[in-house]
Amino acid sequence: MKTDLLIGGEWRAAAKRYGLVNPATEEPLAEVAEAGEADIDAAVRAARACLESKQWRELPARKRGQLLYRMAELLEQRSPEIAEVETRNNGKPLFESKIDVAMAIETFRYYAGWADKLTGDTLPVSGNFFTYTLREPVGVVGAIVPWNFPLNLACWKVAPALAAGCTVVLKPAHETPLTALLLGEIALAAGLPPGALNVVPGPGATAGAALVRHPLVDKIAFTGSTEVGQWIMREAAGTVKRVTLELGGKSPNIIFADADLAAAVRGAQNGIFYGKGEVCAAGSRLLVERSVHDQVVAQLAERAKQLAPGDPFDKGTRLGAIVSQRQQETVLSYIAAGQKEGARLVVGGKAAKVNGKGFYVEATVFDGATPGMKIVDEEIFGPVLSVLTFDTEAEGVELANRSRYGLAAGIWTRDIQKAHRVARAIKAGTVWVNTYNFYDPAAPFGGYKFSGFGRDLGKEALDNYTETKTVWVGL
Ligand code: NAD
Repeated sequence: MKTDLLIGGEWRAAAKRYGLVNPATEEPLAEVAEAGEADIDAAVRAARACLESKQWRELPARKRGQLLYRMAELLEQRSPEIAEVETRNNGKPLFESKIDVAMAIETFRYYAGWADKLTGDTLPVSGNFFTYTLREPVGVVGAIVPWNFPLNLACWKVAPALAAGCTVVLKPAHETPLTALLLGEIALAAGLPPGALNVVPGPGATAGAALVRHPLVDKIAFTGSTEVGQWIMREAAGTVKRVTLELGGKSPNIIFADADLAAAVRGAQNGIFYGKGEVCAAGSRLLVERSVHDQVVAQLAERAKQLAPGDPFDKGTRLGAIVSQRQQETVLSYIAAGQKEGARLVVGGKAAKVNGKGFYVEATVFDGATPGMKIVDEEIFGPVLSVLTFDTEAEGVELANRSRYGLAAGIWTRDIQKAHRVARAIKAGTVWVNTYNFYDPAAPFGGYKFSGFGRDLGKEALDNYTETKTVWVGL
């Protein structure tokens, strides 16, 4: 596969290259071109030139949609290969990568359908006027994405941006650029004009920052940590860039005593251990009503013990390798903090290897966790669950909302009124009732509070890639 920079429809070498390591085997995986400031500048200028060219500006919206459908088709044709690359780069089990690729395809299809359905309004203003709105592309979009769902989160931004008529400079995470580069190959093969999609791997502090500062970038669509999001928001003020921020989370998954407990325990397990817990919406705080607490923790511990870390290419593996040694160390440091701060380690807690290699961490459950502990207040981004206990519905809701984050939440109950009441009371962008971790291109996703603002997916995402222009015609 191509590992140079995709700029203006050409694969270009960079002054520097860097090595990637397969986190499951610790073996070298690829050498990738690293974008420097001059490369970012070239990519932004290519995106700008494309935006203003007849090839893109005057392309009928339906034709733009067809290009996106074509990208979906090509993603589908190459999906086994793309899923394999994602697993080698990120360490996630192959079945998870297949789910990611399937969603990427669906995301392109969904936004392909929107391309020719973005309309303005005619307005009932006072006076003798004909007044209407146009929806125009916001311009050049800098898309900056993290390493946990490298292809999927890139598509969540690239597809709606292109559908709206924007052009894109995509900066994947330094650790996981490979499927973004494959997406670049697919864009070329689908016939997107040069510069419509540019792909420039590189470190956040240099390549990412150059994109954020660039005066010819109109909007930054960011997914990543809250700290980097805050920096981007401050820095973007200099050029009054539009920003949307999909940031971190510490999502509560609430089990009420009246829930279908077997389903709730399965939901709690998937909520935290799917994706090795490297999921922004991971249900990392499990809030359990006291009367069922012991039962839930015992069942959960039993299930977590069975979840042995395994080779991501093994069919049976449900817990893959952590993305990098650095992230493994971070996760282990949180586990140490949990023990030091007095939470009870029920299961897991250690680093692991598979066939003597890899950056794995055991499925870990802490009981007796309380607010104020690092494992309760901070995002760990690993397979570590903190169990807290509550007595009343009001206390459960209060505990759920006692977080700076507000990305997602889960509620497990058979009481339909309670379900809707609590869903309304929770301050989060997504609430799952009697299910967890489901996503669809039609369902907007994003945060409240320190989890950011703006929405990916759904028709809402398109608002972030368009400007509204009001036209007054005197009659
Ligand atoms: P990160 O913030 O370190 O990096 C995210 C991206 O930003 C990477 O591409 C990185 O290179 C880039 N970056 C870093 N510093 C930058 C800078 N100064 N200027 C511009 N770009 C910069 O996050 P991560 O560790 O890759 O990912 C984990 C985080 O992402 C977690 O906090 C997680 O919750 C969050 N996340 C959020 C969502 C969501 O939808 N809300 C989804 C997935 C992940």
